[in-house]
Amino acid sequence: MMAPADRYDAIVVGGGVAGGAAALFLVQRGKRVLLLERDRVGARASGVNFGGVRQQGRDLREIPLSHLARRIWGDLPRHVGIDGERLFTGHLRLARSEADLAVLETYRAEAGAIGLELELIGRNALRERYPWIGPAVLGGSLCATDGQANPRLVGPAFALAAARAGATLREGAEVVAAEREPDGFRVALADGSAARGDVLVNAAGAWAGGLAALLGDPIALEPRIPQVLVTEPARHRVEPVLGVVGGELYLRQVQRGNLIFGTVDRLASGDYRLTRPTPEMARLSAGAAFSIVPELGNLAVIRSWTGVDGYMADGVPVIGESATVPGLFHGFGFCGHGFQLGPAAGYVLAELIATGRTETEIGALSPRRLADSR
Ligand SMILES: Cc1cc2nc3c(=O)[nH]c(=O)nc-3n(C[C@H](O)[C@H](O)[C@H](O)COP(=O)(O)OP(=O)(O)OC[C@H]3O[C@@H](n4cnc5c(N)ncnc54)[C@H](O)[C@@H]3O)c2cc1C
Repeated sequence: MMAPADRYDAIVVGGGVAGGAAALFLVQRGKRVLLLERDRVGARASGVNFGGVRQQGRDLREIPLSHLARRIWGDLPRHVGIDGERLFTGHLRLARSEADLAVLETYRAEAGAIGLELELIGRNALRERYPWIGPAVLGGSLCATDGQANPRLVGPAFALAAARAGATLREGAEVVAAEREPDGFRVALADGSAARGDVLVNAAGAWAGGLAALLGDPIALEPRIPQVLVTEPARHRVEPVLGVVGGELYLRQVQRGNLIFGTVDRLASGDYRLTRPTPEMARLSAGAAFSIVPELGNLAVIRSWTGVDGYMADGVPVIGESATVPGLFHGFGFCGHGFQLGPAAGYVLAELIATGRTETEIGALSPRRLADSR
């Protein structure tokens, strides 16, 4: 059992992709790191998400972080020792109305100005390239550098790589109390043990708002539940990951043929550690998916699952040092985008902790924006 006096340069709470990456990159910068995970690493959103690894459609404020994330994903085996079934198959965002087409055009201009290359594809060309697309689709925008990966494999991979690199990893370690002390932080765990750290990284996912409040820096975070379904395997035809303007459908086909798809999220309540799929959400996703890929109507859905992510009112995550509690670093509120962004959030937090600055433009994601609007 950990002695109360155990002291680390950094304590990271949360063993998903964000916390795992923060721990990994901190260790690589020579820090003594304690990584605390209540359950098993990667067990929550990071391990059960849809598996989309896309820059396209991200909020423009997230694009610089998303670019950094793409570089980390590009080098994934070097960072975590596995490729996690990561494939850069492209991401195709589809328009179903003239208004949607206008959204794609505007986004291409705006995101293009900050370095995201997108190809607009008209209705006929789209049908030639992707004959499985249904008649409801009028056009699309392809980001060729985007792709997908298996969350079951990548969800725990950063935390496990951090442990191999020298971080002290404790699973089944729930932080139940945390306080700022004159020279750092003290956290108390459910098993009665405690630890101290010079800095604390709050990467507790959908539960990060509670940890922030414990530390005297309350930040409103809404837990929401996206739902995913998977069909029996079919002939592999859908190469790119699909999304739609409006965001209420995402779909991909894995190499062995299963089609995975999901839809918008619903609000979580009560103890949302365990969440369940609902028939209403399944029907909603299935309807949207069939309208885009009509062949899906012939396939049986074999499984459905959910997870919980933290959503910010302004739609982008909180990354950086607390505006009110020095030494407290937040990395949460990914609003359903954190599988792709999480590794970069961890990288930036490690950079900020080790050097006091970051090369990545994250000003619009800073906790200070919330303090300014309080
Ligand atoms: C169904 C679904 C589909 C999604 N699809 C995509 C997608 O396609 N692409 C994409 O980019 N993103 C997607 N997301 C979002 C993405 O999964 C999350 O944004 C990302 O995984 C968040 O990572 P995290 O490390 O911040 O959180 P988590 O993975 O939730 O990790 C936080 C960890 O903190 C631990 N923890 C919490 N409180 C404590 C405590 N008190 N003590 C110790 N440990 C604690 C939790 O147990 C958890 O393991 C999806 C999410 C869901 C749920």
